[in-house]
Amino acid sequence: MSADCPFCSIASGKATASIVYEDAAIIAFMDLNPANVGHTLVIPKEHWENIYEVPEKVLAEVAAVVKRISGAVKKTVGAGGISILQLNGRAAGQSVMHFHVHVIPRFRGDPISKAIEAMVGGHHGFKKPERRDLDEIAQKIRENL
Ligand SMILES: [Zn+2]
Repeated sequence: MSADCPFCSIASGKATASIVYEDAAIIAFMDLNPANVGHTLVIPKEHWENIYEVPEKVLAEVAAVVKRISGAVKKTVGAGGISILQLNGRAAGQSVMHFHVHVIPRFRGDPISKAIEAMVGGHHGFKKPERRDLDEIAQKIRENL
């Protein structure tokens, strides 16, 4: 537990939250600044800062809960889809430094569509690479596995 971590405070019950799910290792609660109605966060109760630190076993437990929460949130708010978002490091936009996964209900044409489509749809201005460029970066990543 980290003394000044807001998510540790929620996990320990010292801070209030609108809790959706809780077990011995995981807790899920409503995001205070939702991107859409039903935006839920899933966290391990133990303090791990990011994807690099969190043990694979804990990550698997989080993933299982994310799956359950996604179905329940989609059904509850009648979403057309769910976006799963997980940020690591301030450069990526992580603001609370306790590993967490966003479960974000999506609706066709909602305001965040353009941002997400730009990120994953190839409309972000990043130069379209040649196959040899992709093979080269794939090789370098394999070397770091
Ligand atoms: Zn924490």
